[in-house]
Amino acid sequence: MNSMDYDVVVVGSGVVGASIARLLSSYELKAAVIEKFPDACFGVSKANSGIIHGAFHHATTTLKARLELKGNMMYDQLHKELGFPFKRTGIIVAAFSSEEMKTVRLLYKQGVANGAPGIEICGSERLLNLEPGLNPDIAGGLYAPFAGVVEPYRFVFSLMESAQLNGLDFIRDFEVVRSSYDGKLHQVFSSDGRAVAASFVINAAGLYADKISEIFNGEKFKIHPRKGEEFLLDRNSPARPNNVIFPVPAKESKGMLVIPTVEGTTMIGPTSEKIDDKEDSSTTYSNMERIFLQASRMVSGISRRDVITSFSGLRPVLENEDFLIEKSQMAPAFIQVAGIQSPGLTAAPAIAEYVLEILSKDCGLKLEKKKSFIPEISRTEKIYGISPEKLDELIEKNPAYGNIVCRCEQISEAEIVDAIRKGHTTIDGIKFYTRSGMGRCQGGFCTYKILKIISRETGIPIDHITRRGNGSFITGERISGELK
Ligand SMILES: Cc1cc2nc3c(=O)[nH]c(=O)nc-3n(C[C@H](O)[C@H](O)[C@H](O)COP(=O)(O)OP(=O)(O)OC[C@H]3O[C@@H](n4cnc5c(N)ncnc54)[C@H](O)[C@@H]3O)c2cc1C
Repeated sequence: MNSMDYDVVVVGSGVVGASIARLLSSYELKAAVIEKFPDACFGVSKANSGIIHGAFHHATTTLKARLELKGNMMYDQLHKELGFPFKRTGIIVAAFSSEEMKTVRLLYKQGVANGAPGIEICGSERLLNLEPGLNPDIAGGLYAPFAGVVEPYRFVFSLMESAQLNGLDFIRDFEVVRSSYDGKLHQVFSSDGRAVAASFVINAAGLYADKISEIFNGEKFKIHPRKGEEFLLDRNSPARPNNVIFPVPAKESKGMLVIPTVEGTTMIGPTSEKIDDKEDSSTTYSNMERIFLQASRMVSGISRRDVITSFSGLRPVLENEDFLIEKSQMAPAFIQVAGIQSPGLTAAPAIAEYVLEILSKDCGLKLEKKKSFIPEISRTEKIYGISPEKLDELIEKNPAYGNIVCRCEQISEAEIVDAIRKGHTTIDGIKFYTRSGMGRCQGGFCTYKILKIISRETGIPIDHITRRGNGSFITGERISGELK
């Protein structure tokens, strides 16, 4: 086998590709993930609500409902092994009329049919006990105690870190543009002329799964982007529920929510809007107004003054609204993992198991467990919220813990250096790995310090450092001159 020949190559390092990658790395296989960006999790997986859903929103007949519950259940073990931020907060669906309570009863029935554990229909008194910040006019609702929240990027990074620790190759800046098949091996070519070969290819390309399918002569389908805008409130916002608060859902989305993020902020949104442009990440004032109206109807204390940033993400939606996960009928040795819209983050661990089953049962790939597989990854010490005594101990061992780079989120130089040494060399990669630049000032104070540290650690000149690859340079000449 050539050094660039693999048993399995996964296209895409979002939460789906990364989950598949980690599972592949637990078998005696030569596997790689190829990704067009310089880091993992720069696609749909970076811009979502971070909810581990409660398995009551989708009909039992759908593949996404089955994988949602199974995926949810797999999070505790993954959290134990990989240590990413995750918490089982619970979900409340808040109803404000007897008409809305009818939908709540349907959701409950659906949840029970899906096997969702512990869900209950509640009256207003029980809900206000669970969640004192709810609007007291609430009529009742649904409570799903086993749902939760996760930091999506830390989850994806930890999966990729674990996969690489166990021998998987992560090939970055590799945009797949062409392929050929000789009856045994796929040759996969990048836009800059590199090539890798693979016995099996898995299409986990998110919004571009339709394009990748076309490149490999697979099924013709169209991924429709459906935009969701979200607004993030400061840690000090008084609107900080214990549970994720949902409205009664509309036909095409779960509605606009109030989310206590696992990092301690509150997020409100998302909207749901069909669009054509797969690169549109704009947010609008009118949607902000809609989100604030809906969120304030459910939870008290939500204020426009507390908004620290906004973003939007695009759900990759297929015509039939379900996941498409199967061995291609048209392209040989090619597996489609497409249409992974919500609850894709929740379902990802179960999607990975489903894909490995297809590889083994439908494609005849021999899967032998790797005896040397290491499930845990090393943990990074973080200074946010630790005691002064513990901080002193850390500084004693490594003085870089005493240099605060990001003041809002309390991120030290040691944490930035750790991120860089783990392969995150763009501003966004470091931001998603460490949370630097995610607080109230949104990187106003720390970006230039991080640029200097990246340059010092990697030797990359400051004016060559990008926000997220593909020519997204940060500095103009004036700033780079000042910093050098
Ligand atoms: C607003 C919003 C809120 C959401 N909220 C939730 C939620 O709370 N809970 C939940 O469970 N789900 C949620 N989802 C859904 C979830 O985010 C997605 O299902 C999931 O992130 C999809 O992951 P993915 O790996 O399939 O796609 P991606 O993360 O997009 O990964 C695909 C990767 O493929 C790469 N790629 C594409 N083309 C090429 C190419 N030619 N060559 C090489 N690489 C390529 C991309 O760069 C990308 O990194 C939400 C989605 C949105 C938009």
